[in-house]
Amino acid sequence: MSRSLFEEATRYMPGGVNSPVRAFQAVGGTPVFLARGTGPRVTDSEGNEYVDYVGSWGPLIAGHAHPRVVEALREQAGLGTSFGTPSELETQLARRVCERVPACERVRFVSSGTEATMSAIRLARGVTERPELVKIEGCYHGHVDSLLVQAGSGVMTLGIPGSPGVPDELAGLTHVVPFNDADAIERVLSAREGRVAAVILEPIAGNMGVVPPAAGYLDAVREITRAHGALMILDEVMTGFRVHRGGAQARYGVEPDLSCFGKVVGGGLPAAAYGGRADLLDRVAPTGPIYQAGTLSGNPLAMRAGIETLDLLDEPGAYERLESTAARLAQGLGAAAARSGVPTTLNRVGSMMTTFFGEGTVTNYATAAASDTERYAAFFHGMLRRGVYLAPSQFEAAFVSLAHGEEEIEQTVRAAHEALHELSRQAPDGE
Ligand SMILES: *Cc1c(COP(=O)(O)O)cnc(C)c1O
Repeated sequence: MSRSLFEEATRYMPGGVNSPVRAFQAVGGTPVFLARGTGPRVTDSEGNEYVDYVGSWGPLIAGHAHPRVVEALREQAGLGTSFGTPSELETQLARRVCERVPACERVRFVSSGTEATMSAIRLARGVTERPELVKIEGCYHGHVDSLLVQAGSGVMTLGIPGSPGVPDELAGLTHVVPFNDADAIERVLSAREGRVAAVILEPIAGNMGVVPPAAGYLDAVREITRAHGALMILDEVMTGFRVHRGGAQARYGVEPDLSCFGKVVGGGLPAAAYGGRADLLDRVAPTGPIYQAGTLSGNPLAMRAGIETLDLLDEPGAYERLESTAARLAQGLGAAAARSGVPTTLNRVGSMMTTFFGEGTVTNYATAAASDTERYAAFFHGMLRRGVYLAPSQFEAAFVSLAHGEEEIEQTVRAAHEALHELSRQAPDGE
């Protein structure tokens, strides 16, 4: 049935999908059409159930259809879904963000992570009156023109360096340096003295697969940007409220000038935000001249889902549970790989992780890109057949939610043992 749904979808939408990462181009086959989700599990249109590690690509840290989120949305739908005026809900979520993230004295809500990073770089350019940017190879910040240069996620999966439609003149303002290489940033900022508005990065890369920052890397970026008068923008769309109550910036003790949030902050509805010091955010309209707006920004339904999700994460032991569940999963996957003899490297920070197929550590784009994507594809389908839904790409994170428990982890590790064993027998070099 997924096959016929997919065929019909391709008649009306490019590739049958509304975001390229949902296509199965990198792993082959037909995308799974999901019909519902409950807690850690999803059910497809044919009634097959899967343990879900995609979690809508990050937002569903409380699991699917959490009763508290559902109840809040039901209530809000009856009260009105959008007003286009201020509502108290926006202040309630903004207060929660600012309390958790001291670097954010003020936030502006938008509707997607893309909008958050787009607006943050506009603000950085407006405040510094400088045109250029530094981004990191393999980091993905949404499909913003200026940031769609050697990006991660779907761009990496499809093996395209940038995108037609982004003028060279614009792409030329963005300098790209490798992840975990602070000296490379120093070199660009020195060579382009007074020209670079901001360095934007994922504190933990998640869109080339999970790649943690090397010890001291984020501190070095902080120092270098400050010394050259460029802003440091942490894109915490994936990591925010996931790897720590205060995001990766709290986990690693670094204070950026601007921060971007999305995914978890909207609890599965379209909400995202950018924030920072009051003197910076107050340069945004209406208090300042830098223009940015949105019909559905701060949407009441999205605010309710975000509020409930952040409150669920504030229940005692929530982050400890995410950490320990994810650690058990990582340990089980590592043991399964070791027993099968299939060479893998598992990178994990908190509840986000990636199993890279290949030898050696993965510390940046080049080492991630060297992974054996065919083996990943075989593993992906082996897991799917056994009722485990992973991202249909080597270069994405697997997410553990508060709803994942012992039963799901055991099922997943058992599936991994079988899938990896199968893979070791299929290996062309006869391992
Ligand atoms: C998902 C993601 C984005 C883009 O968010 P959208 O809501 O898909 O536009 C930006 N930055 C990072 C780090 C992300 O993981």
